[in-house]
Amino acid sequence: MKKQKIIAIYGKGGIGKSSTASNVAAACAEAGKKVMIIGCDPKSDSSITLLGGKRIPTILDLLREGIEVTEEDMVFEGYAGVKCIEAGGPEPGIGCAGRGIIVAVQKLKSVSGELMKEQDLIIYDVPGDIVCGGFVAPIRKGYVNEAYVLTSGEYMPLYAANNICKGLTKINMPLSGVICNSRNASREEEIVSKFSEEIGSQLMAFIPKSQIVQDCERNGYSVMEKAPYSEIANVYRRLGKAIMENERKVMADSLTDERLRELTK
Ligand code: SF4
Repeated sequence: MKKQKIIAIYGKGGIGKSSTASNVAAACAEAGKKVMIIGCDPKSDSSITLLGGKRIPTILDLLREGIEVTEEDMVFEGYAGVKCIEAGGPEPGIGCAGRGIIVAVQKLKSVSGELMKEQDLIIYDVPGDIVCGGFVAPIRKGYVNEAYVLTSGEYMPLYAANNICKGLTKINMPLSGVICNSRNASREEEIVSKFSEEIGSQLMAFIPKSQIVQDCERNGYSVMEKAPYSEIANVYRRLGKAIMENERKVMADSLTDERLRELTK
């Protein structure tokens, strides 16, 4: 039986989870893997750059309309054949996406269960930038088998990453690795490497801050599609490969706040 990776990428809001998730999806698909991405952000950030800027309906919206939802209504093929799905996020002022994600994924499983099984890599791009019920929902339901945390070398994203590690350990979910999305902070790679090491994990990639990523995103594309020969595209290719080959999982040993502050000084 082929080994399927079902991963979730966590991190502080605005740290670049969606652009990392979509570029990794595109890189792995280009390398011949069958890839699916499931976003649950109302902005549809994870799929929009794989679909040339097109916004697709979310499963929760379709369910709210009360129609009999088919695979064609939910699953859209994007760049390099990546299957794109948007679960739908919380409505402003209404609350947590946690339950919504579960309802949406259950629907997806019942309608497109076979398609899900065929994939080599499924990426959940979940909002959960704080430790809450929604953040762990896909893990608790057993939908995810690898968790990664994305951070930069600044104190706040690292604080969030450390909290996420604490949350994962609390629910007995090991961490598969740390990804550094640079904000051009000083000694960033060194700080995130040290952080990864001290929590017992590993640094999967250092993604340099690049205008190319922002320009591609603004136009509704992934880097892989619009700037395939750029150095940053190669960074995502290496990260995709590292994730596909990664077998290391550890119960993260989160740091004390004092240690975190010391690290980022
Ligand atoms: S509580 Fe958690 S899952 Fe719910 S909307 Fe906020 S971040 Fe998302």
